[in-house]
Amino acid sequence: MTAAPPIQLLPEADGLGRAARYLGQGGLVAFPTETVYGLGADARNDRAVARIYEAKGRPSFNPLIVHLADQPAAEALCHFSPAARRLAAAFWPGALTLVLPLVAQAGISPLVTAGLDTLAVRVPDHEVARALLRSFGGPIAAPSANPSGRISPTTAQHVVDGLGGRIDAVVDGGACPVGVESTIVDCSGAAPVLLRAGGIPVEAIEACLGQTLLLPDEATPDRPTAPGQLASHYAPLGRVRLNAEAARPGEVMLGFGNVDCTLNLSPSGDLLEAAAQLFGHLHRLDAMKAKQIAVSPIPDHGLGRAINDRLRRAAAPRD
Ligand code: AMP
Ligand code: MG
Repeated sequence: MTAAPPIQLLPEADGLGRAARYLGQGGLVAFPTETVYGLGADARNDRAVARIYEAKGRPSFNPLIVHLADQPAAEALCHFSPAARRLAAAFWPGALTLVLPLVAQAGISPLVTAGLDTLAVRVPDHEVARALLRSFGGPIAAPSANPSGRISPTTAQHVVDGLGGRIDAVVDGGACPVGVESTIVDCSGAAPVLLRAGGIPVEAIEACLGQTLLLPDEATPDRPTAPGQLASHYAPLGRVRLNAEAARPGEVMLGFGNVDCTLNLSPSGDLLEAAAQLFGHLHRLDAMKAKQIAVSPIPDHGLGRAINDRLRRAAAPRD
């Protein structure tokens, strides 16, 4: 983790080039969008995405929005329905986030989607954000650049005040013009669902589609739609036993630290590595058809809290 205050970069060729290099090296770079300042990391890099959670001190893994330079870049990652295309044509670049089915093997870290098979994508309408996205040339995962539970930052100084010492750089592009978060519409199912009100008015979206948006509790119950339900959605198929010192007969062991196990979240006991591996390993356990899963104790501090939150949900009784 970076202890020094973030390097402040100017939004011109040299500063953006440096910002793109930090991202390419797995660093964390805050940058302005028209909504709020985002805390960006390479969406394909598990460790970089884990560092977002570490820097924000998030107690749980909520899926992150991926920012892209243009619609073709989004189409490489997601399956667009006709309704999604209409919304993108009308509101991108802009403060609208679309949740869409993720293309298999798109290379997005499973930590970005919190293990889900849908992805939230947005093309921001801010010159600095777009120039950075072009310069980096890849998908940038970016939640708001504030510590978890604090107000979203709308200036570079807010970012430095909140996250100074935990991130590599901030691109100073002045104050964010919109100042509220993006509107989120889930277009992954049969009918579009409003997941969050935000910068683009719901009325404008409904006028564009010629239909009303469903609210999460009106959507089909078999799909995760409300953000609150999201985290509990992805769970391994097997039964999970937590705080296990060793596997019992018939169990597959998901280890942490120096233990005998089938899959290890981090042999050296590094919480950042464990977070980076978590969803990949849970998917691997499914692929192995593991029926009984024993999990080593994970220290409950820093990123360990988010890991334990996810594992507790995985271990909770289900129908
Ligand atoms: P933010 O904190 O502004 O980055 O917003 C992230 C929010 O986007 C999450 O809390 C979810 O509500 C929503 N979101 C992101 N990815 C997904 C997804 N795959 N499915 C449903 N909602 C998502
Ligand atoms: Mg936020």
